[in-house]
Amino acid sequence: MRFRDRGVEIKTAEQAGDMRRAGLVVGQTLELVAQHVRPGMSTGELDALAESHIRDCGAVPSFKGYHGFPGSLCISVNDQVVHGIPGPLVLDDGDLVSVDCGAIVDGWHGDAAVSVIVGDPAATTPEVHELLQVTEEALWHGIAAMRSGGKVTDISAAVETHVRSVDLRLGIIEDYVGHGIGSQMHQPPNVPNTGKPGRGPRLVPGLAVAIEPMITLGSPETTVLADDWTVVSTDGSWAAHFEHTVILTEDGPWVLTALDGGRERLACLGVRAAAR
Ligand code: MG
Ligand code: MG
Repeated sequence: MRFRDRGVEIKTAEQAGDMRRAGLVVGQTLELVAQHVRPGMSTGELDALAESHIRDCGAVPSFKGYHGFPGSLCISVNDQVVHGIPGPLVLDDGDLVSVDCGAIVDGWHGDAAVSVIVGDPAATTPEVHELLQVTEEALWHGIAAMRSGGKVTDISAAVETHVRSVDLRLGIIEDYVGHGIGSQMHQPPNVPNTGKPGRGPRLVPGLAVAIEPMITLGSPETTVLADDWTVVSTDGSWAAHFEHTVILTEDGPWVLTALDGGRERLACLGVRAAAR
Protein backbone atom coordinates (compact mmCIF):
# COMPACT_ATOMS: atom_id res chain seq x y z
CA MET A 1 0.00 0.00 0.00
CA ARG A 2 1.45 3.35 -1.02
CA PHE A 3 0.46 6.48 0.81
CA ARG A 4 -0.08 9.90 -0.58
CA ASP A 5 1.29 12.15 2.15
CA ARG A 6 0.86 15.21 0.06
CA GLY A 7 -2.55 16.77 0.01
CA VAL A 8 -3.55 15.67 3.52
CA GLU A 9 -6.11 18.30 4.55
CA ILE A 10 -5.83 19.52 8.15
CA LYS A 11 -9.06 21.01 9.48
CA THR A 12 -9.45 23.91 11.89
CA ALA A 13 -11.67 23.51 14.97
CA GLU A 14 -14.34 25.49 13.15
CA GLN A 15 -14.15 23.21 10.12
CA ALA A 16 -14.42 20.18 12.44
CA GLY A 17 -17.68 21.67 13.68
CA ASP A 18 -18.87 22.07 10.08
CA MET A 19 -17.99 18.42 9.39
CA ARG A 20 -19.96 17.39 12.47
CA ARG A 21 -23.10 18.83 10.86
CA ALA A 22 -22.59 16.61 7.80
CA GLY A 23 -21.69 13.67 10.05
CA LEU A 24 -24.90 13.99 12.06
CA VAL A 25 -27.02 13.99 8.89
CA VAL A 26 -25.29 10.76 7.84
CA GLY A 27 -25.61 9.18 11.30
CA GLN A 28 -29.30 10.07 11.55
CA THR A 29 -30.01 8.83 8.03
CA LEU A 30 -28.42 5.46 8.78
CA GLU A 31 -30.42 5.19 11.99
CA LEU A 32 -33.61 5.93 10.05
CA VAL A 33 -32.77 3.30 7.43
CA ALA A 34 -31.94 0.70 10.10
CA GLN A 35 -35.29 1.40 11.80
CA HIS A 36 -37.27 0.99 8.58
CA VAL A 37 -35.56 -1.95 6.89
CA ARG A 38 -37.81 -5.02 6.82
CA PRO A 39 -38.53 -8.09 4.69
CA GLY A 40 -40.50 -7.27 1.52
CA MET A 41 -38.95 -3.83 1.14
CA SER A 42 -36.83 -3.06 -1.89
CA THR A 43 -33.40 -1.49 -1.67
CA GLY A 44 -34.75 1.28 -3.92
CA GLU A 45 -37.38 2.14 -1.29
CA LEU A 46 -34.68 2.44 1.37
CA ASP A 47 -32.71 4.71 -0.93
CA ALA A 48 -35.72 6.99 -1.49
CA LEU A 49 -36.29 7.21 2.27
CA ALA A 50 -32.66 8.18 2.83
CA GLU A 51 -32.56 10.73 0.03
CA SER A 52 -35.62 12.60 1.26
CA HIS A 53 -34.25 12.66 4.81
CA ILE A 54 -30.87 13.97 3.65
CA ARG A 55 -32.50 16.69 1.55
CA ASP A 56 -34.96 17.58 4.37
CA CYS A 57 -31.88 18.23 6.52
CA GLY A 58 -30.68 20.73 3.92
CA ALA A 59 -27.85 18.40 2.91
CA VAL A 60 -26.86 16.89 -0.42
CA PRO A 61 -26.48 13.11 -0.88
CA SER A 62 -22.84 12.87 -1.96
CA PHE A 63 -23.07 9.46 -3.65
CA LYS A 64 -25.80 10.55 -6.08
CA GLY A 65 -24.11 11.22 -9.39
CA TYR A 66 -20.62 10.42 -8.00
CA HIS A 67 -18.88 9.10 -11.15
CA GLY A 68 -22.43 8.44 -12.36
CA PHE A 69 -23.61 6.42 -9.33
CA PRO A 70 -27.44 6.43 -9.46
CA GLY A 71 -28.31 6.09 -5.74
CA SER A 72 -28.07 8.18 -2.57
CA LEU A 73 -27.03 5.08 -0.63
CA CYS A 74 -24.87 2.13 -1.53
CA ILE A 75 -26.85 -0.96 -0.49
CA SER A 76 -24.95 -4.23 -0.59
CA VAL A 77 -26.77 -7.48 0.22
CA ASN A 78 -25.27 -10.77 1.48
CA ASP A 79 -22.21 -11.58 -0.70
CA GLN A 80 -22.13 -7.98 -1.96
CA VAL A 81 -19.35 -6.17 -0.11
CA VAL A 82 -19.75 -2.51 -1.08
CA HIS A 83 -21.08 -0.19 -3.81
CA GLY A 84 -24.34 -2.08 -4.39
CA ILE A 85 -26.84 -0.05 -6.44
CA PRO A 86 -30.28 0.44 -4.82
CA GLY A 87 -33.15 -0.76 -6.98
CA PRO A 88 -35.88 -3.38 -7.35
CA LEU A 89 -34.12 -6.04 -5.23
CA VAL A 90 -36.56 -7.08 -2.48
CA LEU A 91 -35.09 -7.89 0.92
CA ASP A 92 -35.77 -11.20 2.63
CA ASP A 93 -35.85 -12.32 6.24
CA GLY A 94 -32.29 -12.99 7.37
CA ASP A 95 -30.56 -11.02 4.60
CA LEU A 96 -27.39 -9.16 5.60
CA VAL A 97 -27.65 -5.60 4.32
CA SER A 98 -24.77 -3.15 4.32
CA VAL A 99 -25.88 0.45 3.96
CA ASP A 100 -23.33 3.15 3.14
CA CYS A 101 -24.34 6.83 3.26
CA GLY A 102 -22.63 10.10 2.39
CA ALA A 103 -23.87 13.67 2.77
CA ILE A 104 -22.52 17.16 2.17
CA VAL A 105 -23.35 20.20 4.32
CA ASP A 106 -21.90 23.55 3.23
CA GLY A 107 -19.18 21.78 1.26
CA TRP A 108 -18.11 19.37 4.05
CA HIS A 109 -18.54 15.61 3.79
CA GLY A 110 -19.66 12.85 6.13
CA ASP A 111 -19.44 9.15 5.24
CA ALA A 112 -20.53 6.13 7.31
CA ALA A 113 -21.90 2.62 6.92
CA VAL A 114 -23.69 -0.02 8.96
CA SER A 115 -24.60 -3.65 8.37
CA VAL A 116 -27.84 -5.08 9.71
CA ILE A 117 -29.82 -8.31 9.55
CA VAL A 118 -33.22 -7.92 7.89
CA GLY A 119 -36.25 -9.03 9.94
CA ASP A 120 -36.02 -11.97 12.30
CA PRO A 121 -32.49 -12.26 13.76
CA ALA A 122 -33.05 -16.02 14.06
CA ALA A 123 -33.42 -16.25 10.26
CA THR A 124 -29.66 -16.15 9.81
CA THR A 125 -26.74 -18.12 11.21
CA PRO A 126 -24.66 -17.43 14.34
CA GLU A 127 -21.65 -16.97 12.00
CA VAL A 128 -23.35 -14.01 10.32
CA HIS A 129 -24.17 -12.43 13.69
CA GLU A 130 -20.54 -12.87 14.72
CA LEU A 131 -19.39 -11.34 11.43
CA LEU A 132 -21.42 -8.19 12.09
CA GLN A 133 -20.19 -7.97 15.66
CA VAL A 134 -16.50 -8.43 14.85
CA THR A 135 -16.61 -5.96 11.95
CA GLU A 136 -18.21 -3.25 14.08
CA GLU A 137 -15.80 -3.94 16.96
CA ALA A 138 -12.86 -3.76 14.55
CA LEU A 139 -14.03 -0.32 13.43
CA TRP A 140 -14.07 0.92 17.03
CA HIS A 141 -10.66 -0.58 17.74
CA GLY A 142 -9.38 1.31 14.70
CA ILE A 143 -10.93 4.56 15.93
CA ALA A 144 -9.49 4.01 19.43
CA ALA A 145 -6.02 3.71 17.88
CA MET A 146 -6.16 7.33 16.61
CA ARG A 147 -3.68 9.06 18.85
CA SER A 148 -1.86 12.30 18.19
CA GLY A 149 1.73 11.50 17.20
CA GLY A 150 0.86 8.03 15.90
CA LYS A 151 0.76 6.96 12.25
CA VAL A 152 -2.12 6.06 9.95
CA THR A 153 -1.37 2.34 9.93
CA ASP A 154 -1.80 2.25 13.72
CA ILE A 155 -5.49 2.27 12.74
CA SER A 156 -4.97 -0.52 10.18
CA ALA A 157 -3.08 -2.70 12.65
CA ALA A 158 -5.76 -2.24 15.32
CA VAL A 159 -8.49 -3.30 12.87
CA GLU A 160 -6.57 -6.34 11.67
CA THR A 161 -5.44 -7.43 15.14
CA HIS A 162 -8.98 -7.37 16.44
CA VAL A 163 -10.40 -9.39 13.54
CA ARG A 164 -7.60 -11.94 13.77
CA SER A 165 -8.01 -12.21 17.56
CA VAL A 166 -11.60 -13.32 17.03
CA ASP A 167 -11.34 -15.58 14.00
CA LEU A 168 -8.36 -16.29 11.74
CA ARG A 169 -10.63 -17.55 8.94
CA LEU A 170 -12.36 -14.24 8.27
CA GLY A 171 -11.41 -12.38 5.08
CA ILE A 172 -10.24 -8.79 5.55
CA ILE A 173 -10.81 -6.95 2.26
CA GLU A 174 -7.69 -5.22 0.98
CA ASP A 175 -8.94 -4.16 -2.49
CA TYR A 176 -10.89 -1.30 -0.88
CA VAL A 177 -9.75 0.90 1.99
CA GLY A 178 -10.73 3.83 4.19
CA HIS A 179 -9.70 7.34 3.25
CA GLY A 180 -9.16 10.91 4.26
CA ILE A 181 -12.32 13.03 4.11
CA GLY A 182 -13.27 16.69 4.41
CA SER A 183 -13.85 19.15 1.58
CA GLN A 184 -13.99 16.06 -0.67
CA MET A 185 -15.41 12.62 0.09
CA HIS A 186 -12.17 10.85 -0.81
CA GLN A 187 -8.80 12.44 -0.15
CA PRO A 188 -5.38 11.30 1.10
CA PRO A 189 -4.41 9.40 3.13
CA ASN A 190 -5.58 5.86 2.38
CA VAL A 191 -6.55 3.96 5.53
CA PRO A 192 -6.04 0.21 4.93
CA ASN A 193 -7.64 -2.41 7.18
CA THR A 194 -4.50 -4.51 7.45
CA GLY A 195 -0.84 -3.77 8.08
CA LYS A 196 1.86 -3.14 10.61
CA PRO A 197 1.59 -0.06 12.84
CA GLY A 198 3.84 2.98 12.54
CA ARG A 199 3.59 3.65 8.80
CA GLY A 200 1.98 6.30 6.64
CA PRO A 201 1.25 9.94 7.42
CA ARG A 202 1.34 11.13 11.02
CA LEU A 203 -1.88 11.35 13.02
CA VAL A 204 -2.26 15.00 13.98
CA PRO A 205 -5.13 17.09 15.32
CA GLY A 206 -7.31 18.20 12.41
CA LEU A 207 -6.82 15.00 10.38
CA ALA A 208 -10.18 13.47 9.41
CA VAL A 209 -10.52 9.94 8.10
CA ALA A 210 -13.27 7.51 7.16
CA ILE A 211 -12.35 4.16 8.74
CA GLU A 212 -14.23 1.29 7.11
CA PRO A 213 -13.45 -2.38 7.69
CA MET A 214 -15.04 -4.75 5.15
CA ILE A 215 -14.92 -8.37 6.34
CA THR A 216 -16.12 -11.62 4.76
CA LEU A 217 -16.87 -15.06 6.13
CA GLY A 218 -14.44 -16.47 3.57
CA SER A 219 -11.84 -15.14 1.17
CA PRO A 220 -10.90 -11.44 0.92
CA GLU A 221 -10.86 -11.65 -2.90
CA THR A 222 -13.40 -9.41 -4.62
CA THR A 223 -15.01 -9.14 -8.07
CA VAL A 224 -16.88 -6.21 -9.62
CA LEU A 225 -20.18 -7.16 -11.28
CA ALA A 226 -21.13 -6.23 -14.85
CA ASP A 227 -22.94 -3.10 -13.58
CA ASP A 228 -19.40 -1.74 -12.98
CA TRP A 229 -20.26 -0.86 -9.37
CA THR A 230 -21.30 -3.79 -7.20
CA VAL A 231 -18.34 -5.40 -5.45
CA VAL A 232 -18.98 -9.02 -4.42
CA SER A 233 -16.83 -11.56 -2.63
CA THR A 234 -15.34 -13.81 -5.29
CA ASP A 235 -16.11 -16.95 -3.29
CA GLY A 236 -19.72 -15.91 -2.58
CA SER A 237 -19.17 -15.58 1.17
CA TRP A 238 -21.24 -12.96 2.97
CA ALA A 239 -19.66 -9.64 3.90
CA ALA A 240 -20.15 -6.91 6.51
CA HIS A 241 -19.13 -3.24 6.33
CA PHE A 242 -19.03 -0.66 9.10
CA GLU A 243 -17.71 2.88 8.71
CA HIS A 244 -17.42 6.15 10.61
CA THR A 245 -15.98 9.54 9.80
CA VAL A 246 -13.60 10.54 12.60
CA ILE A 247 -11.57 13.67 13.23
CA LEU A 248 -8.60 13.69 15.57
CA THR A 249 -8.69 16.68 17.93
CA GLU A 250 -6.37 17.93 20.68
CA ASP A 251 -8.68 16.05 23.07
CA GLY A 252 -8.78 12.75 21.16
CA PRO A 253 -10.94 11.26 18.42
CA TRP A 254 -14.34 12.79 17.67
CA VAL A 255 -16.59 10.36 15.79
CA LEU A 256 -18.49 12.79 13.60
CA THR A 257 -21.00 10.28 12.21
CA ALA A 258 -21.85 8.74 15.62
CA LEU A 259 -24.80 10.47 17.27
CA ASP A 260 -22.97 10.60 20.64
CA GLY A 261 -19.65 11.49 19.03
CA GLY A 262 -18.33 8.02 19.88
CA ARG A 263 -18.45 8.57 23.64
CA GLU A 264 -20.01 5.26 24.67
CA ARG A 265 -18.17 2.84 22.39
CA LEU A 266 -14.79 4.50 22.95
CA ALA A 267 -15.30 4.50 26.73
CA CYS A 268 -15.66 0.70 26.52
CA LEU A 269 -12.16 0.65 25.01
CA GLY A 270 -10.75 3.01 27.63
CA VAL A 271 -10.58 6.02 25.29
CA ARG A 272 -12.18 9.36 25.97
CA ALA A 273 -14.00 10.75 22.93
CA ALA A 274 -13.59 14.43 22.19
CA ALA A 275 -17.34 14.72 21.60
CA ARG A 276 -18.74 18.21 22.08
MG1 MG B 1 -18.90 5.03 2.89
MG1 MG C 1 -15.88 5.76 2.77
